[in-house]
Amino acid sequence: MSLQYLAARLPINHPKLPQVQQSLFMRRAGEGGEREVLSYLQEALYSLPSFILHNFHVRVPKHFSIQIDYLVLTNNYILMIEVKNIKGRITFKPNPAQMIRELDGDLIAMDCPFAQLDRNLIHFKKLIGQVSLPIYTAIVWVNRSAILNQPPLNSPHQLIFIKQLPHYLNQLDGLPNQVIDLHSLVKRLKSKATPFYLSDICERYSLAPNELLSGLICMSCYTLMTLHARTWICSRCKMKNNYMLDENILCAFDLLGDNLQMNELRQLLPFLYSRNLEKLIETGSIRRTSPKKNRVYSLERTTKVHWIKWNGIN
Ligand SMILES: [Zn+2]
Repeated sequence: MSLQYLAARLPINHPKLPQVQQSLFMRRAGEGGEREVLSYLQEALYSLPSFILHNFHVRVPKHFSIQIDYLVLTNNYILMIEVKNIKGRITFKPNPAQMIRELDGDLIAMDCPFAQLDRNLIHFKKLIGQVSLPIYTAIVWVNRSAILNQPPLNSPHQLIFIKQLPHYLNQLDGLPNQVIDLHSLVKRLKSKATPFYLSDICERYSLAPNELLSGLICMSCYTLMTLHARTWICSRCKMKNNYMLDENILCAFDLLGDNLQMNELRQLLPFLYSRNLEKLIETGSIRRTSPKKNRVYSLERTTKVHWIKWNGIN
């Protein structure tokens, strides 16, 4: 949502707009791919005692952060899955590790999923500690039209197309059963997980707030709204409302940073008054420092993790 919000705030001829739109496109494609993988996992695992954890994210400030698309836990194995939904001709370069995508004659270098899994596996093993289950890793390619060149030699990570996933899981089912309390293992992992969110987005794209359009954004169609006699009206979907202000304020924090003064918020929302923040303060979404002068408003990030999906017999 935040990237779409940023795209809506960039002038149409802004040089960074294509880059933001590309990130947005990749993120959406990734999410679509992950949904598809989930249905394959659920189908293959429905009759087994198993847990499927989606978007397992752990951030240890100043040390590392890892994000694993899917973790599958059964009595036979742990499987880490990295999902890729990218089309084109894909080449994996071993040293330095890089993935090259060729599409319509254009070459783009991307993060190598093999190197990504190497790193995730190292940190995951440290996080989980002693466990009797073997840990497997797989890159699942969702885009069916992609042409994948040979994966790096000697890589421990499997590279498979989504259609091969049921067969691959079936093979793993043949591994010996371990006496393990899956519930307590999942509980242990859950205690380590941290929520994932995009923050300081302008900084990520090296954008200054004054490069962005100011005003209220329609949160239904991501278009700049205009004010007519105290009512905000979207020029595209014609929605008339004033209730989107709260969502705009929260998105402004995502873009500019978690701790902001009123004058910083006004760079995007010039009509904002401190009374407009009262509701968000009451509900605990925003905290404010006590001195009236140079008062700072801070976004309270949720500590809830919405990543667990279990399925199968347990
Ligand atoms: Zn609209």
